[in-house]
Amino acid sequence: MKIVILDGYTTNPGDLSWEGLASLGNLIIYDRTPTHLIMERIGDADAVYTNKTPLTANTISACKNLQFIGVLATGYDVVDVAAARKRGITVCNVPNYSTDAVAQFAIAMLLEICHHVAHHSNAVHEGRWTHNEDWCFWDYPLIELADKTMGIIGFGRIGQATGRIAQAMGMKVLAYDPNRNPALENDNLRYATLEELLAVSDVISLHCPLFPETQGIINKYTISKMKNGVILLNNSRGPLIVEQDLADALNSGKVYAAGLDVVSTEPIRANNPLLTAKNCLITPHISWASKESRQRLMDIAVKNLKEFIKGTPVNVIN
Ligand code: NAD
Repeated sequence: MKIVILDGYTTNPGDLSWEGLASLGNLIIYDRTPTHLIMERIGDADAVYTNKTPLTANTISACKNLQFIGVLATGYDVVDVAAARKRGITVCNVPNYSTDAVAQFAIAMLLEICHHVAHHSNAVHEGRWTHNEDWCFWDYPLIELADKTMGIIGFGRIGQATGRIAQAMGMKVLAYDPNRNPALENDNLRYATLEELLAVSDVISLHCPLFPETQGIINKYTISKMKNGVILLNNSRGPLIVEQDLADALNSGKVYAAGLDVVSTEPIRANNPLLTAKNCLITPHISWASKESRQRLMDIAVKNLKEFIKGTPVNVIN
């Protein structure tokens, strides 16, 4: 079996091993693949792995031997799943490998907004404390989270994990999700409509997948329904937010601060309006990337192909 990895570098920049996949066939690994080389590099491969390299209907129909597409991620919006289904190609993703890391990162962004730990440490190292008139100083409002409400849009694995940490910090949680599991509700956590969540939440965290119905779910209109001074977090997918609308709301103070690990076009474009918006923390899509998570990702990616070869595929999304 010929197996091609189109963009292996971010998953394994060299600190982990591809041995598991290499043991299943003739493995060819590319660190990254520019769009014009995608078809050529897949060529006559039976199995292809992609993380962020798009597999369009055109590519899928041109690569005649393909039987298996492995997504090296949870979100599978890079693959034209309908086109793969039509050709009888099995598409597998890797759910759940980074749930804890992504939830931890959402909270890390929130805590940074609440305390600006690195900023204050840098100020101390620059000598500002040494020469300060008073025994302490702070440059931003310091925000306590206990008793505040976190609204979570998309209450699946990552949303629930984020909600658990928020509750541990004394926050109340409102969840919006078309698929409800009432067993998850407790005194400090309940489901709500999107309208109620927008109106009541002090912090809104996005954890839904990017679907046509969630694209642009945060826009001028939904922002106008939020509390003044709300904090917005997004480490799900960039296109969930209409970026110019969020930039305007940050600059006007309607939204106090945003923590974003994802943007509409990645890497971020130099003219993205969020780069110059007030109180906007942006990180380069790293929520998933702890070594522990990447190891789990690779282990599950190997299992996906092994099970497919055995005729008992798992984590199939089409
Ligand atoms: P999941 O499938 O467990 O949960 C997604 C939840 O969203 C489900 O409960 C689903 O019912 C809900 N949902 C579907 N449509 C919705 C809608 N219209 N409105 C609100 N909720 C809706 O997935 P997960 O493992 O929790 O991952 C969530 C997303 O996080 C992924 O789709 C991916 O885009 C993103 N992610 C980002 C990173 C990162 O590094 N930044 C890493 C992993 C995953």
